[in-house]
Amino acid sequence: MAVRIRLVPCLSDNYAVILHEVDTNTTVLIDAPEAAPIEAALDQAGWKLTHMLITHKHGDHVQGIAALKKKYGATVIGPRGEASEIPMIDSKVAEGDVVSVGNMKAKVFETPGHTAGHIVFWFEQEKLLFAGDTLFALGCGRSFERPASVLWQSILKIRDLPGDTKLYCGHEYTLSNARFSVTVDPKNAALKRRLAEIERARAEGKPTVPSMMQEERETNPFLRPDNTEVAEALGMKGADPAAVFTELRERKNNFKG
Ligand code: ZN
Ligand code: FE
Repeated sequence: MAVRIRLVPCLSDNYAVILHEVDTNTTVLIDAPEAAPIEAALDQAGWKLTHMLITHKHGDHVQGIAALKKKYGATVIGPRGEASEIPMIDSKVAEGDVVSVGNMKAKVFETPGHTAGHIVFWFEQEKLLFAGDTLFALGCGRSFERPASVLWQSILKIRDLPGDTKLYCGHEYTLSNARFSVTVDPKNAALKRRLAEIERARAEGKPTVPSMMQEERETNPFLRPDNTEVAEALGMKGADPAAVFTELRERKNNFKG
């Protein structure tokens, strides 16, 4: 059941991820921002792509699909809700579907907000969550196509996944997210420690992805709008968590740092 994982930096701040199941020689890409670095990573590992799992329609997640499909003929699996905007899609999936790739299985959650059709993939056995642009390390995606309150409901679907689940997100936004987070959760000691770790990692050019769901629950303000101290820091004590989440999203949109 050995599974190898490679994080592939693409474009300016995107991540693609490659999963390789040794026993079945199955190689799965999650999101396709850019073909060249993904091909290079596959070549270096000696793997042939068999599947592409796509979280959403944005160019920086799909524009590598065509070239990779041409080279490897891999099966493209993506969101039913925006299937017409996923190039060369073979299989359309929706809430509750289970995607089988080799002996691995991923459960699909629909997480509308960033885009209306966005999905995320949860590999329970392998303890991996591929969240695309729904949930970031210490942040969340912008709610472009649905109100922030809807994005909050989407995030609630994945917030309580096991704490030892690794969160792989679509972008290296963690340092900016961390600098924002300390402004809305100023008493959180674990968050302050995490900011210092992130500053160190980025100064050394190291990725901050993946993170663990447990540390996200303890430090990511977008998972904590129902936390009293976060609400208080926003002057919203006792407010509905969806309203606090919406305010957090607004403030992050306007945050310079
Ligand atoms: Zn996006
Ligand atoms: Fe993106």
